[in-house]
Amino acid sequence: MTTVRGYAAHTPTSPLVPFTFERREPGDDDVEIQILFSGICHSDLHQTRDDWGGALFPMVPGHEIVGRVTRVGAKVTKLKVGDFAGVGCMVDSCRECASCKESLEQYCEQGATWTYNAKERGSDQLTFGGYSETIVTPERFVVSIPASMDLKAVAPLLCAGITTYSPLRHWNVGPGQKVGVIGLGGLGHMGVKFAKALGAHVVMITTSMSKAADAQRLGADEVLLSTDRAAMASHAGSFDFLLNTVPVSHDLNPYMALLKREASMVLVGVLTDLDPPLKGVSFMFGRKKLSGSAIGGMAETQEMIDFCAEHNIVSDIEMVRIDQVNEAYERLIKNDVKYRFVIDMASLAA
Ligand code: NAP
Ligand code: ZN
Ligand code: ZN
Repeated sequence: MTTVRGYAAHTPTSPLVPFTFERREPGDDDVEIQILFSGICHSDLHQTRDDWGGALFPMVPGHEIVGRVTRVGAKVTKLKVGDFAGVGCMVDSCRECASCKESLEQYCEQGATWTYNAKERGSDQLTFGGYSETIVTPERFVVSIPASMDLKAVAPLLCAGITTYSPLRHWNVGPGQKVGVIGLGGLGHMGVKFAKALGAHVVMITTSMSKAADAQRLGADEVLLSTDRAAMASHAGSFDFLLNTVPVSHDLNPYMALLKREASMVLVGVLTDLDPPLKGVSFMFGRKKLSGSAIGGMAETQEMIDFCAEHNIVSDIEMVRIDQVNEAYERLIKNDVKYRFVIDMASLAA
């Protein structure tokens, strides 16, 4: 076992504090990574505060992990010591079910093993995430990061990136389509960049008109203020696809009205009950569809990293020290981040 320092939450209401724990020695199949940068996802906040129920403490959050490979097991082929590598939301799955065979490990029929707030496969040992010095992960759940990329701005790609890339690809977003991204935060700003790079006409749909200039800089062709009823009405029935990243329950009916006949809105933000209720009429007149999507599989995560390297895409970040993590959470709640906090893990040693 290796002793590792990190930051953990111990209850849903207490701040994150320094915490020391043990990680396993790398097995034949494992890669050990010295963590350089760790992104702060809104899901970290939801989970440490037990918004989704069933939280396991102590909890070391962090599933946007980038670092340097320090040790590899005997059977590892894809990575070697010194390479840059990333770990996202999953660290294992059954590897045998239909979903795993298609590299859709996030939909593993036995349940994927999450990077934190979960138990290791076949044991009661808790998994601990990226707000820590090192991580040991099976090679299958590690992606390779080209050394040419800006590593600190790559970290958010491991969750915010893949969570937006995957649905845009699955629903075949591309040239000639009008695509709306709802909510300009960590996920939303990546959604805009990807939709633009895929060739769509992109509309940023936001509650914050103050973000309009930024949305355009990120690649949006238009900005639509969702609280402006007249503006929403002027876009009714015109969207081919909507990607909804809003983190809390909100009225979806006005967004369904934006869709063209047979078009889809995909939820990636809200995991809790939908409230207020959806109106049947929002779907019927136009055979409209509402769907959801969770992160992306490991093959697609590597594809997304390679797509980013090719198109010069990274996240817009604000660096923080690990001792600023609680303050960063408060700012996230206040919608005060442009557009992802990333922890410089060197600050843990300092
Ligand atoms: P974030 O950085 O906090 O951004 C969320 C954005 O949503 C805000 O910037 C804001 O944009 C908008 N928003 C916030 N509150 C709102 C409200 N009450 N009504 C309407 N809009 C609101 O969060 P994030 O890190 O992007 O995460 C978004 C959600 O995705 C979280 O719930 C997270 O848990 C979830 N998530 C899901 C997956 C998955 O696999 N499906 C993966 C990662 C994260 P505007 O100011 O532009 O309105
Ligand atoms: Zn996340
Ligand atoms: Zn499986």
